[in-house]
Amino acid sequence: MRTSYSSGQINRYGLSRHIPAAIKREVRRRCGFGCVVCGALPYYYHHFDPPFEEAREHDPEGIVLLCGNCHAAAHKGLLSDAMVRRAARSPRCLEHGFCYFRLDVGEHFPVIRLGSSTFIGNPTVIRAFGKRLLAVDEPEEAGGPCRISAVFYDREGVGTCRIICNEWQGLSSNWDVERKGNEFTVWRANREIALRMRSNPPHELVIDRLDMFYKGFRIAVDLDGRITTYYPDGRVWFRMESCLFMNNEAAIVVEPTHWAV
Ligand SMILES: [Zn+2]
Repeated sequence: MRTSYSSGQINRYGLSRHIPAAIKREVRRRCGFGCVVCGALPYYYHHFDPPFEEAREHDPEGIVLLCGNCHAAAHKGLLSDAMVRRAARSPRCLEHGFCYFRLDVGEHFPVIRLGSSTFIGNPTVIRAFGKRLLAVDEPEEAGGPCRISAVFYDREGVGTCRIICNEWQGLSSNWDVERKGNEFTVWRANREIALRMRSNPPHELVIDRLDMFYKGFRIAVDLDGRITTYYPDGRVWFRMESCLFMNNEAAIVVEPTHWAV
């Protein structure tokens, strides 16, 4: 107990720094899933009212998400308590509708993994009805980064997350957006994962789980790493695992004619 107290893991009232999962989720949802000041991921849970040293419980109303920069600034006195309180009342992510994270992408085409399948050198990984749902473009200028873009929708056509020129954005309208290490998970509802993604910079992007819809077309990556696509009526169109796509202009393509069966 003495060691924990002196190392700051337990405060003077015996409160542990460990925040229960349900309270963490409530804090994430109140904050729109990113730093209340700037909207960035990753984040820390920051007790501000009262500060952790004075807290007797983990009250979600008194905890906010702060990114690494804003968290460090708050603890060094470079970000005022008044600013944190103001941001807690009007979280940046709720004002703008999303939290964001800048993907570190190199100048060479990144390897994209969907479950157990690998995509190398494919400018378009998934295209449906002419729309590039997951794509990579060459650097805008020599020495610059390749540019990943993506859009993800749920079955009602509501966006869940997107990647715009390497900026990953998780929409605040989701049920939950959670980060653990370099892994990001977007939940449409309890136990319903829209996307679980890992970034291994600078040359690999891994999508472990996916459930994406677009105009009736559905593509999913399951726990076993299989990719399954579905017709609008729910029947399986095709299923694959451990496939390698190299240097195709477009890897997975869906056209209206595919439904004419
Ligand atoms: Zn921040």
